[in-house]
Amino acid sequence: MAQPGEFASTVKQQADIVRIVGEYVKLRKSGAQNWSGLCPFHQEKTASFSVNAVHQFFHCFGCNAGGDVFTFVQKIENITFPEAVRMVAEKLGIPMPKVTYSSPEEARQAKRRGSLLDIHERACVFFQEQLKRPEAAHAREYLNTRGLNAATIAEFRIGYAPESGFLLRDALRGQFDEDTMRESGLFSWKDKDQSPVTSSQLPEGSEAASTLTTANRQLTTLYSKFRNRVMFPIATEQGKVIAFTGRTLATEEKSGPKYLNSPETPIYSKSRVLFNVDKAKEAIRKLDYSILVEGQMDCITVYSAGLRNVIASSGTAFTDAQAKLLGRFSKKIVVNFDPDTAGAAAAERSLALLVSEDFEIKVLTLEAGFDPDLYIRRKGVNAYTDALGNSQKYFDYLIERARTLHPVRTPEGKVRALNYLLPHIQRVPSRIVRDELANEISHRLGIESKVLRQELRHAATARSSARVTTPAKLHLTDAERVLIRALASRELAHSPLTSREGHDPDFEPARQAHYFLTQERLHEGTGAHALFDALLTAHEQILDPMALPLDENDRRLVASALMEDREELTPELLENAIRSLRKRAILRQLDELQHQLKEAEQRQDSATSARLLQERVKLRRAMAGAGESAATYL
Ligand SMILES: [Zn+2]
Repeated sequence: MAQPGEFASTVKQQADIVRIVGEYVKLRKSGAQNWSGLCPFHQEKTASFSVNAVHQFFHCFGCNAGGDVFTFVQKIENITFPEAVRMVAEKLGIPMPKVTYSSPEEARQAKRRGSLLDIHERACVFFQEQLKRPEAAHAREYLNTRGLNAATIAEFRIGYAPESGFLLRDALRGQFDEDTMRESGLFSWKDKDQSPVTSSQLPEGSEAASTLTTANRQLTTLYSKFRNRVMFPIATEQGKVIAFTGRTLATEEKSGPKYLNSPETPIYSKSRVLFNVDKAKEAIRKLDYSILVEGQMDCITVYSAGLRNVIASSGTAFTDAQAKLLGRFSKKIVVNFDPDTAGAAAAERSLALLVSEDFEIKVLTLEAGFDPDLYIRRKGVNAYTDALGNSQKYFDYLIERARTLHPVRTPEGKVRALNYLLPHIQRVPSRIVRDELANEISHRLGIESKVLRQELRHAATARSSARVTTPAKLHLTDAERVLIRALASRELAHSPLTSREGHDPDFEPARQAHYFLTQERLHEGTGAHALFDALLTAHEQILDPMALPLDENDRRLVASALMEDREELTPELLENAIRSLRKRAILRQLDELQHQLKEAEQRQDSATSARLLQERVKLRRAMAGAGESAATYL
C-alpha cells in the first residue's frame, strides 16, 4: 500500500496551485510565475497575497499565511490535511487510495460526515422524484404560481416531501444505519413512547439487553421531519447538499412553520452557509459584486432571471463566517432587502457586519411592498437591473435615513442624527475612511459648530485600530534575493517557462550559486547566514526551499525573494549578485582588519601592524578586482 505522504505528493505534483487558489481568490498575474490577489485570510484593500506557480506555494505579506496547495485548502475550507488531499485529488480527478487519518477519532468523524453527505444526496434525489408524482400536483402548482419553470426547478434541485412521514425513512433505511438517519436532521422520533425497560435494568451484555435495546429503538419510531413541503436543498460552496428548507403547502396553522429548516448537524451550520453560493460564486468573481437578498425564493427568481451573482441570507443576520466566505469572491455587495420591514434587525446586523468586514456596500430599496421576487415578476428583469444600477452607497443611505428619523433643523436634531450615525461609522475598519465620513456627515447634516465637528471626528477616528498590521521591513539585499532565486531555480531548468529561445542551456543558476556560496562562504557573518545555510542544504537534498522548516520571518524573506520575478534571472544578474556579495565580504574583512590594526597600534605591536597593513593592501586589491574575477568563474 502506498504511504499517505506518497499519495499527497503525487497529488501535489499534479495540482496547479494557481488554478486551485484561483477558485477562491481573484488572482491577477503579477510576474512571469507569480499571481497576486486580496488575501482571503485577512482583511485588506491592496493585494499582499501572492501565489508562485514554479514553487507551488502561496504567501501573504500582510498576515504571513503561507504554504502549499494543501495548506491553502485546509485553511480556507477549515478541514484536516487528509480531507484537503482528498479534495484536491477530487478536483484533479485522481482516484483516492484508502484514506489514512492521524487518529481513529478523526477517521470516525470523517466517515460520519461522509455518511451524512450521502444521506442528504439520497434524500435530495428522493424529494426530486416525489415532485414528479401525481400526489405532488399541488406542489408543482405552487412552484408554477411562483413563476419557476422546469429548468429552474431542476437546477435548484427543488423537490417535494410527501405527506407521509414514512416514505423517506423506508427509502433510506436499507442504505443507512439508524444513527446516521437520526443524526441527519431529516427525521423526528418519539423517545417517550419507548418501553420503560432499559438496558441498564438487565444484566450487562446479556442477549436480552441488546435485543431489547434494539427493539426499543426500532426504526418505526422515526418519521420525516419535513412533510407536505416544497423542499429547497441547501448546499456547500462545492454544491454538496447538507440541509433543506421546506416550505409548507398546508394552509392550517398546526402543520408547523411556513418555512422549516434542517437543524444544525455535524455537516450543517447555518452560520457558515450562504444559499446559492455554489452557483453564484463564479459570477460574483467575474462581475466583482454580489447581490444579497433575504429569501431563497427571491434568490431563485433573481438567479433565473439571469442575474447569476445572487445569494440569500435566509432571513437571519449575516455572520462573520458568511462574510469571510463571500469576501473571497468579491468585497462589493448590493444588499437588496428592506430594512424597514420584518427582519429589520437582522438586516441592520448584517450590514453592520459587512461594514466591519470592509465590504463596499450599496443598498437597493425597492418600492414599498415589493420584494425582489415580486418586483421581477411584475416589472420584469430590466426594471430590476435598472434599480440595481441606481442602488445607493450605504453611507448615503444611512445619512438620508438619519435625516428622516431626526430632522436636522435644530441643533438637538443634529446631535441626535449624529448619534444615530456614529456607531455605523465606528465600524469602518479604516481610520482614513472614518475621517472622511465624519467630514462628509458634518457637511451633509449642515453642522457649522467647530466643536461638534471636532467631537464627531474624534469619536469617529478614536476607535480600536485596524486589525492588520503593516508588514515588517524585509532585510535582504538585492544580491541576496537574486541568490535565493538562483538557489531555488532547480525546477526552472526543466520548466517550459524558461526554455525560451536565446536561453543559455549551460546556465544552471542553482548549481553556480551553490558553488560560490560554499566555496567562498560569501554569506558568512551576514544576517541571512543561517537562512542561506538552510537553502544550501535544501539544494543538496533536492528540496524545495518552501518545504524547509523555516521560521516565520525567514519563510517570508524567501517567499518575497521568489515572488520577485519581474527581472529575468540571467547569468549577468547572478554574476552581479555574487560580485556584490564578494565586495561586501571584503568590506567586512577590511572593517575587521581596521579594528585589529588600531588595537595593534595602540599596543605598539609593530610586527602585527605590518602584517595587517600588508593584508589590507591585498584586500583592497581584491576589492578592485572583485568584479572581474567573478566573471571568469561563470
Ligand atoms: Zn493575509
